[in-house]
Amino acid sequence: MDKKGRVFSGARPTGRQHLGNYLGAMRNYVALQKDYECVYSVVDIHALTTMETTQNLKTNTLDMVLDWLAAGMDPQQSIIFVQSHVPQVMELHTILSMVTPLGKLTDLPTFKDKVREQPHNVNYGLVGYPVLMAADIALYKADTVPVGVDQAPHIEFTREVVRSFNYRYNCDVLVEPQMKVTEFPKIIGIDGQQKMSKSLDNHIEMASTPEETQKRVMMMVTDPQRQRRSDPGNPDVCNVFSLHKIFSSAEEVKMIDHDCRHAEIGCVDCKKLLAKNLNSHLETFRERRGEFEKHLDEVEDMLLDGAKRARVIAEKTMQEVRSAIGLY
Ligand code: SF4
Repeated sequence: MDKKGRVFSGARPTGRQHLGNYLGAMRNYVALQKDYECVYSVVDIHALTTMETTQNLKTNTLDMVLDWLAAGMDPQQSIIFVQSHVPQVMELHTILSMVTPLGKLTDLPTFKDKVREQPHNVNYGLVGYPVLMAADIALYKADTVPVGVDQAPHIEFTREVVRSFNYRYNCDVLVEPQMKVTEFPKIIGIDGQQKMSKSLDNHIEMASTPEETQKRVMMMVTDPQRQRRSDPGNPDVCNVFSLHKIFSSAEEVKMIDHDCRHAEIGCVDCKKLLAKNLNSHLETFRERRGEFEKHLDEVEDMLLDGAKRARVIAEKTMQEVRSAIGLY
């Protein structure tokens, strides 16, 4: 079957993935494979812009890839690789940085946020981060980039950089990518307040054991107004209910909605049901991950093969880029 186009997406190596990662990105990565030629990269060079230490970089890369594979990202259908295994991206990054005004980079809200977050480490790579991202996309001539609404400005930036390059060198070598905006559900962490995140330790890992998952679910903050079992609750403000809507059956969701409002179900029982449904949802994922873990050498070979396939595309693009510039 002819594919609709080429998708590129990259994610920093954050180690074992959590439910927020799965529902926000991985699930979509898997679905896109059917219709698109997908290029998925663990962007480890990007990670260096904010990392204090690289001690866990290798483990985090492998752990994330294991989760990707277990979730259904398929190296037979897609190119899955590690960014640093394709050095051409660094070359294109340098070339694209010459057509990007510095003021544009320092004016970006994401750069200003990072300066606030890590004032002790405002490095050159941090300023050029969006250019490296543009290079990631342009190198594979991806015409489609899946994004959430909040990431749309990044893709618009990439389109501008691509246009600048093509204009400066009077060519049409690089492809302006289109955004494929997907409305991801915002997954709140077990604290019931902030977006699920590893750094906030409010996450539920996909690969944790059923017991660990149950423990994390039992820690979830519920409707803060419900003090006693006999108080009616409000599922609309309860994060446990939000996850029920994703992982429980329609009948169960209806039942909880009614019983919570009439104080006919306690939060402990409600969470136990969520943990049970979540664990059954994750069962296949965990089995698959366990199998991949037993064959780590094959997973590493798969990454090397992915990089090899990515380098073929990358080198072809770079030959066109060098020629368009007129490099000797
Ligand atoms: Fe939330 Fe369930 Fe408790 Fe209602 S019964 S407040 S939905 S945990």
